[in-house]
Amino acid sequence: MPTILVGIPASPGIVVGPAHLLRWEVPEVPERSIGTREVPAEIARVHDAFASAIERLQHVRKRALEHAGPAEAAIFDVQISIIQDADLTNRVESSIRRGFSAEGAFDLVMFDLRDHFGRSPHAMMRERVDDLCDVQIRVLSILLGLPDHDPVDLPKGANAILITHDLTPSLTVQLDRECIVGIATDAGTRTSHVAILARSLGLPAVVGLLSATTRIQSGDRVILDGAAGTLMVRPNAAELAAAAQRSHRERQTHDELALIAGMESITADGARIVLRANVDLPDEVALAATSGAEGVGLMRTEFLVVGRTTMPDENEQYEAYAKVIKAFDGKPVIIRTFDIGGDKLPVGGYPHEPNPFLGWRAIRMCLDEPELFKTQLRALLRAAVHGDVRIMLPLIITVDEVRQARFLLEESARDLVARGVEHRADIPLGVMIETPAACITADALAPEVAFFSIGTNDLVQYTLAVDRGNASLASRFTPLHPAVLRLIYRTQLVGAASGIDVSVCGEMASEPLMAYALIGLGIRQLSVSAMSVPLVKRIVRGIDTTRAAEAAMAALEAGTAHAAEALLRAGLDAELPGLLGG
Ligand code: PEP
Ligand code: MG
Repeated sequence: MPTILVGIPASPGIVVGPAHLLRWEVPEVPERSIGTREVPAEIARVHDAFASAIERLQHVRKRALEHAGPAEAAIFDVQISIIQDADLTNRVESSIRRGFSAEGAFDLVMFDLRDHFGRSPHAMMRERVDDLCDVQIRVLSILLGLPDHDPVDLPKGANAILITHDLTPSLTVQLDRECIVGIATDAGTRTSHVAILARSLGLPAVVGLLSATTRIQSGDRVILDGAAGTLMVRPNAAELAAAAQRSHRERQTHDELALIAGMESITADGARIVLRANVDLPDEVALAATSGAEGVGLMRTEFLVVGRTTMPDENEQYEAYAKVIKAFDGKPVIIRTFDIGGDKLPVGGYPHEPNPFLGWRAIRMCLDEPELFKTQLRALLRAAVHGDVRIMLPLIITVDEVRQARFLLEESARDLVARGVEHRADIPLGVMIETPAACITADALAPEVAFFSIGTNDLVQYTLAVDRGNASLASRFTPLHPAVLRLIYRTQLVGAASGIDVSVCGEMASEPLMAYALIGLGIRQLSVSAMSVPLVKRIVRGIDTTRAAEAAMAALEAGTAHAAEALLRAGLDAELPGLLGG
């Protein structure tokens, strides 16, 4: 019997293939004590397991080098050196001599090391905790004879659908799109970074399935429907045929939308809506540049860091920014400074915080690490000679942060002058409006900046106190909540009164009904995932701003998100009948 698992639509597309289950968690170790006579054999088992793990890591390293790059591959050098450490071997051997089995001894020593490193006051030591955990999983899996779940050895053309709890950085760098055609995760929501990354890569994805990893076995045939947010396990012939038909219809819609990509982004009553693309990885820029977008409304630079053990230096960053800027040929490219923290973390080195989304994130971290921040700012100033670059600061809550950032930007320009390096210093500096604090004090921020960009993913999370990454709260994450709509409207009014641009770059802008609401609230610039540009353009071209404003003003006064949605839905249905479907 087929089973249908319902999750959260994260990235559209229908794909059929064998499941590749990846369980990347420390396995349970059964209790087993040994006698003195068994000691040499257990020690030999540990040595064999270490040798196999190293061989495996060398292989994974090679693949990461091919698919991601040298910095990403370095993660695995660190893990190899952990296994080769003589002290680790000595400690495991001595536990075996005390009567522990090979796996019991190794598990015990690794827990101890993780605990010790995790409590260390030194960042260098804390950096190793995630690596220790990866090594623990890998070696224990070998000792316990568990299947090797690494996705690296899938044959090309395997068309596998990766099923995993969450996509960790060390898994992300191994993703090979020639063998993985879709992603399904237990964790995550539409605005969690796995979902954002999947959309950027154009990989169909369903997240927030809660129990996919326990209900699916490797090799099970599955149909993943990224737009519906479903995963059908062991489908029958009729369901496979229906999926093929839906996929065919999706491709037709895609082709129709492709025709719209080149058309003007102008409403039925003649209002111009600037549509730009969000870019997460420099490699996506080709897709973004041909999507019909008029530039980049948000480049998330932290994806240059996520999953790496070292920060990219000034030159590496310069190359990455220049690639995106050049692809847009003079059109505006808004580059956001590092939004590291929350759920976007480099490998190791970052403090484990009880509340990462309320923690040392984004501008807070950059201002506390001025050398790291200035390296990025210098790279941006240098890359700016290639086009119309604007710099954007994330997670702003006060004017002081803007002033400090501006000071560091000016200092970076002076450094480049002193070095005699070509750059542009007159770059507009804007801020993300993604905290209630920034919305409410937008009038104080406006005179300090060149533009506002509303980040609805975080704004919704912080306004409604709903974790954007928590799958079990997904139905409470409601961007159409009147509190959110009022904050957006307020920001738009302040921007208009101050004569500065206000755009929206959160995922909300990519959703037809919500894009309609935003235009109704007076927003005239939207930045959406590259694959959503044609769809949003279709909404723009079919609506009248006066009618959209009427629906949005009514939604502002609604008592609930549900009531606001009904009002907006009625408005959009009247203008573009059938577009929203049921
Ligand atoms: C947002 O918060 O809406 C946003 C665009 O930034 P990110 O999703 O990267 O936090
Ligand atoms: Mg944000």
